[in-house]
Amino acid sequence: MKRSVSQLADGREIIYFDDTPTAPARNAKDTRDLPAQAPHSVIRRDPLTGEWVAIASHRQTRTYKPPADLCPLCPSSQGRPTEIPESDYDVVVFENRFPSFAQSVPDTTPTVPGMPMVPMAPGQGRCEVVCFTSDHGRSFGELSPSRVRTVVDVWADRTEEFGTFPGVQQVFPFENRGEEIGVTLSHPHGQIYGYPFVTPKTELMLATARGYLAEHGRPVMGDVLAAERAVGTRVVASGRYWTAFVPAAARWPVEVHVVPHRQVPDLPALTEAERDDFAELYLRVLHQMDALYSRPLPYIAAWHQAPVRTARELAWLHLEVFSVLRTRDKLKYLAGSESGMAVWINDATPEQIAERLRGNPS
Ligand SMILES: [Zn+2]
Repeated sequence: MKRSVSQLADGREIIYFDDTPTAPARNAKDTRDLPAQAPHSVIRRDPLTGEWVAIASHRQTRTYKPPADLCPLCPSSQGRPTEIPESDYDVVVFENRFPSFAQSVPDTTPTVPGMPMVPMAPGQGRCEVVCFTSDHGRSFGELSPSRVRTVVDVWADRTEEFGTFPGVQQVFPFENRGEEIGVTLSHPHGQIYGYPFVTPKTELMLATARGYLAEHGRPVMGDVLAAERAVGTRVVASGRYWTAFVPAAARWPVEVHVVPHRQVPDLPALTEAERDDFAELYLRVLHQMDALYSRPLPYIAAWHQAPVRTARELAWLHLEVFSVLRTRDKLKYLAGSESGMAVWINDATPEQIAERLRGNPS
């Protein structure tokens, strides 16, 4: 892999990651006249639940569903500059123009004025966009195994560097695909969030892992993985170092967890062999998902990693992939129970979901 760092017209960082060391130099200049970045992001903590909420008012003007010939994630061409100054690329990462969190954000008062029980802080973190290919019409599942392998290295690279940025407490690489889940740009891309706090979901999982370890003396994910592999009914694909299964208490109409057999806190901790195996296995899972309804499945793929500084020994890296589509053309909406109480009601059993995924050619 070849890594080249450059800057966009408004000072944002852009990093090209090319599959091979022999890739051409990436030194094209950003010719656009962009206004200086002025992200305004704050976090406020809900006094009733203890959860942080980010308020990023500058994001209201962000790009919404542009036509393909105006795609800001395609390479630049003559007279049509985009976010990526080069005329081609393999994988590229750059700071989000409309970030939910950023390094240079204004200071705030320590609490919301008049509300001493509501802590407030600058939304100091980092948000990057990752383009997986320069080919606008492709999807992640159509990438070659070697390109997916590059993407894994990119996620690991960014996780490591995000951990050095002031304020970042947790690094979250993710991908959303499909208009059904609110993707505003169809070019194959993902994002990486560096949160200025440990997310509520991770806090909950770490507390559960801590309790299980105290009671059983073993990590809960290790026991889950061993049991899933032994029972086999929910396993959809397995490799040498990873297993993909529908969790026994799946929330979504389609939900798969891709878990490494070895307990590692985050992506940088994976060996070369584990990264190779993941690339191959994940492509199989995505093919199974697209075959499910014979259409590109809208999905969210979310990496669960250890926080940057705390509870690293408790965490177990894994990828959660899920879809809101319950039939070929019907969406599962987050209705009263899900939205109001965070209680999921799933119409299909996890065993049926696994059966359907396995039944399709991968
Ligand atoms: Zn594009």
